[in-house]
Amino acid sequence: MSAQHKVIIIGSGPAGLTAAIYTARASLSPLVIEGEPSSTSDQPGGQLMLTTEIENFPGFPEGIMGPELMMNFRTQAARFGAEFITEKVTKVDFSSRPFKVWIRDQEHTAESIIVATGAQSLMLNLPRESDLIGHGVSTCATCDGFFFRNHEIAVVGGGDSAIEEAIFLTKFATKVHLIVRRDALRASRIMQERALSNEKIQIHWNSQVTELHGEASLTSVTLKNNADGTSAPLAVTGLFIAIGHKPNTSIFTGVLDMEESGYLLTREGSTYTNVDGVFAAGDVQDHVYRQAITAAGSGCAAAIDCERWLEGQH
Ligand code: NDP
Repeated sequence: MSAQHKVIIIGSGPAGLTAAIYTARASLSPLVIEGEPSSTSDQPGGQLMLTTEIENFPGFPEGIMGPELMMNFRTQAARFGAEFITEKVTKVDFSSRPFKVWIRDQEHTAESIIVATGAQSLMLNLPRESDLIGHGVSTCATCDGFFFRNHEIAVVGGGDSAIEEAIFLTKFATKVHLIVRRDALRASRIMQERALSNEKIQIHWNSQVTELHGEASLTSVTLKNNADGTSAPLAVTGLFIAIGHKPNTSIFTGVLDMEESGYLLTREGSTYTNVDGVFAAGDVQDHVYRQAITAAGSGCAAAIDCERWLEGQH
């Protein structure tokens, strides 16, 4: 067992690393358990490691690459003394203090915890999908829509997210194909009406994307009609996957209060969870905004909540 920490931060996206910068500057010597390299968005650095250029993070008028931005966050946290372990937490025990966090059989203890494990977009799991992320395939219209000005693109999904993204994308694209796997939309009535009345949106009912084409970037997809089994190509340079998100909270099941969908619940207007001394920040508790800047903001809030809570304990 290693020495007890004042704070352990689980996760290293914008929320976790901002919490690390703030707690490190407050002399709390945070230990950041940052995840382990993988092809999914619960890896170190979070979802921005899967993007290319970011043009909407304030302070970078020329834009910055997602991985470079996260490396800058990490370097800044390390400069003030944050320590990092590049592994995944496998188990937690928050039932008594000090809190316990395990990486396999290696136990770490802390007076407080900041959970910033993020969320991941559900993907289609098609061959080439992960290679083409940031090269035509995207999971965030707000982030990447601007790059598709005057392009013909497609959105997959029939829920509120897909419709919201499709409508947003009509500001840039010449045409937006909405690929819906059934003969009905799951989205709310008002969103359905907006999609159906938007001249730039063409809905492909009973359809699913079965193949992605393009070498350096996406050039077309294959669409399969689920009703008659036929397939046809669709020339699009952008494919936005909007079939839902999953927060990375499985290790907190039965430990922290969460919504049915798995998002952690925090006390309104704060980052306090139901366990005193455990805080949550970023996408793991936010299914509304899901932006790097809002995640960073909530990481800052968690660090301040945590610091004040620790002061109150001594
Ligand atoms: P949802 O789970 O509501 O919808 C997911 C959609 O993706 C469904 O149409 C589903 O199809 C489809 N889908 C799932 N898996 C696949 C797959 N493998 N291939 C093709 N299609 C697939 O997720 P959302 O992210 O849209 O919404 C999540 C929650 O957030 C909802 O409660 C929603 O109302 C809310 N929200 C609200 C907004 C607003 O009010 N402005 C904006 C965005 C989200 P099927 O229907 O066949 O299952």
